[in-house]
Amino acid sequence: MEPNGKIKILSTIAQIGDLAGEIGGERVDVWTLISGDLDPHSYDLVKGDGEKFSRADLIFFNGLGLEHGASLSSLLFSNEKAISLGYAIQNKTPEKIIQKEGVFDPHIWMDVSLWEGVAEEIEERLSLIDPEGAPYYREKVAALKKKMAITHSYMRATLQKVPSNQRFLVTSHDAFHYFARAYLAEEGEADWANRFTAPEGLAPDGQLNPADIRFAIDFLQSHNIRVVFPESNISRDVVAKIASASRELGFDVRVCKEPLYGDSMSGLSYLEMMRSNANVIANHLQEGN
Ligand SMILES: [Zn+2]
Repeated sequence: MEPNGKIKILSTIAQIGDLAGEIGGERVDVWTLISGDLDPHSYDLVKGDGEKFSRADLIFFNGLGLEHGASLSSLLFSNEKAISLGYAIQNKTPEKIIQKEGVFDPHIWMDVSLWEGVAEEIEERLSLIDPEGAPYYREKVAALKKKMAITHSYMRATLQKVPSNQRFLVTSHDAFHYFARAYLAEEGEADWANRFTAPEGLAPDGQLNPADIRFAIDFLQSHNIRVVFPESNISRDVVAKIASASRELGFDVRVCKEPLYGDSMSGLSYLEMMRSNANVIANHLQEGN
């Protein structure tokens, strides 16, 4: 974080940091605040975080209710260098933001085509603070958006190979609604929301109640789906409980051995994480049914 003439960017989550690094290239240094397998929904500031905030020239966060740990949230909303990329997308295309019971679903990175808007916003913000670098950022974002478009098409094609009546997903928490709309649904399908369910809400809270488990089991049975997917940074116990309760009711369900990446990239790049999600879901939905 020492001064070296580069623009210092602090991002809350790795999904943002990865894009900022690709677009900023050699003109920027990027740090991710919530790294590894930490939960961005509940992250609270730790010693040393304050210094990162004061040294950063630009701070990017997701918003839409993602970073709702009290200390982090109040710092983000009071810091004039902090920019919410999620609210920027919401301003531009409010119809694309999913709400559940009146609450914004913050997991917008789960649709790569929507996340392209975040790349554009990062480029705009970087160009404002560093006008000399604007042509450089424009070139970088164009290359990145090309890769994103290829990944988006690949994911859609991969999942659309799974027969429509098998394209239903159960994971640990409500991180996959954007994914379901973008990749699991048929073209223009009005009922895309029925393609996905999870026992834990928009933020994983470790609270599992019998009604949520029962709902997930009914969902699996009604679509004859025999596999549930754990997420890389959430205890497998959540989906294991669904599988064992379902087996007791005489409907065999297995837990997928490979995890999905919801809130955490677990060391992968953003595009690797998304490709992996598409491959794992497509393989196991077909294999398990
Ligand atoms: Zn989440």
